[in-house]
Amino acid sequence: MKILVAVKRVIDYNVKVRVKADGSDVDLANVKMALNPFCEIAIEQAMRLKESGQANEVVAVSVGDKACEEQLRAAMALGADRAIRVDTQEAADPLSIAKLLASIARQESPDLVLLGKQAIDSDNNQTGQMLAALLDWGQGTFAYSMELKGDSVDVTREIDGGLQTLNLNLPAVITTDLRLNEPRYAKLPDIMKAKRKPLEVKEPEQLNVTLSQNLKLLKVEAPPVRQAGIKVGNVEALVEKLKNEARVI
Ligand code: AMP
Repeated sequence: MKILVAVKRVIDYNVKVRVKADGSDVDLANVKMALNPFCEIAIEQAMRLKESGQANEVVAVSVGDKACEEQLRAAMALGADRAIRVDTQEAADPLSIAKLLASIARQESPDLVLLGKQAIDSDNNQTGQMLAALLDWGQGTFAYSMELKGDSVDVTREIDGGLQTLNLNLPAVITTDLRLNEPRYAKLPDIMKAKRKPLEVKEPEQLNVTLSQNLKLLKVEAPPVRQAGIKVGNVEALVEKLKNEARVI
């Protein structure tokens, strides 16, 4: 079994995000970047399938400029066998990303494509769904657990108010939710080994994809600064404030 894992370079989740002064975007200057946490979970899941003998090859794919090779190396340090970067200089919209990933999937013929449920920078939560539609493959989004069953896979999904289990024929697209697993840390020897693993670069034209820009980022605003809290003397004062000041009861 071959598994393709789509990984995205995003701002490290520990970093406090700054908005550019003109509100045109988030400021990425000198900001620590990392693998999108849901993509790390996808890599971890692929590695667990490989280590249990259910998969034999894991290929990491990222769409972006040369900088995202850092995240592809990180994915290989976590265990991916090789990597593909699709070279784009401008941020592409989810439909373009999905078209590029679909083209790679047609070339690579994986049995499974794993993606994060969403990228924590744009919060789109669209790419996996679009990819499955373009490939006409089954999709299991927000995966909480998964179990391979020969030529199909059971995916238990986190849905509002509970869990839902689907059985998907392979090949299939699965997007990972937070509780699917706890990703490992890369060990130093594996980080060194990852530097020598194959990393191929492809152009969108080679994949017969013209990048569309169906979305335009109009404005980014930081959330309003929270007011400092106050202490009240007793329950009566609290109820009075909730009723007459906050007007929430
Ligand atoms: P999104 O739909 O943008 O929230 O992203 C969902 C998932 O799609 C991510 O967790 C990745 O697995 C994949 N993805 C999004 N953008 C990229 C990208 N530029 N390169 C590779 N994978 C991506």
